[in-house]
Amino acid sequence: MRLISNSKKIVAKLKQYKGKSLGFVPTMGALHEGHLSLIRRARRDSDIVVVSIFVNPKQFGPKEDLQKYPRPLKKDLEFCRKEGVDFVFCPNPKEMYPLGYRTYVDVEGLSNCLCGISRPGHFRGVATIVTKLLNIVQPDTLYLGQKDAQQAVIIKRMIEDLNLPVKVRVMPTVREENGLAISSRNIYLSASEKKEAVALSQALKLARLLIKNGSRDTKRIVSRMRNLIRGEKRAKIDYIEIVDMSTLKPVKRVINNCLIALAVRIGNTRLIDNLIIRDGSY
Ligand code: AMP
Repeated sequence: MRLISNSKKIVAKLKQYKGKSLGFVPTMGALHEGHLSLIRRARRDSDIVVVSIFVNPKQFGPKEDLQKYPRPLKKDLEFCRKEGVDFVFCPNPKEMYPLGYRTYVDVEGLSNCLCGISRPGHFRGVATIVTKLLNIVQPDTLYLGQKDAQQAVIIKRMIEDLNLPVKVRVMPTVREENGLAISSRNIYLSASEKKEAVALSQALKLARLLIKNGSRDTKRIVSRMRNLIRGEKRAKIDYIEIVDMSTLKPVKRVINNCLIALAVRIGNTRLIDNLIIRDGSY
């Protein structure tokens, strides 16, 4: 495994593998089982696996956790080595965004809803860095997690709109045994907050059950989910929405391919989770 921090170097290195299939997993590090599921899939599918580790400053708001975001690089590299990753790309923020940097990618209409409301500019930062990384790595397949459903929808749209020659594979959310979606930010939670955080996945399970039993009215389903989460004393709901999977616009009734997405603050930590209702799954 090679660790490369310079973009020109990785471009030159990857040129040597022309004709081989290349799988790419972009991350912000602090790797966990969720990331590893993407890496393992990429390893199975591709000749060459590239993982990037970059805490992208452009996707953090001024009051967000950029400074304190965990950066356990040594441990991350060990994980990558164990999983048989070929290249870890760890660029420097100054190289990614040099003085005078001016260019951004904005995926209109999909970035200013759901998480985009309380995190203005977040998806512009995400779309911009993913575009840059795709241009540098030029993979055949990009691996993303369903955990960040809005991000996956936005990146797929961007790839289509900009004719970027890459396939996207979205992998299911990896959860702890109690249902909590694994996230690098879970380390911010105290033991008691972690217990309360299970309410997010429980609310999604409740929604699934209601839908299975015939509920279709999204207002009612959301209201039942709200009540469940409000039972936790440190939980503050940012949003719970049921939206069309491709437009991210709210729907009045549950339809095929809709996304039930939520963001909830548990104490100071903002957590997200979601569930997709697909054709025939209800
Ligand atoms: P991050 O390091 O948080 O930017 O995440 C990097 C990639 O890992 C993104 O595509 C995420 O959606 C994905 N990911 C994060 N957590 C999980 C999880 N629990 N299950 C599956 N994928 C995940």
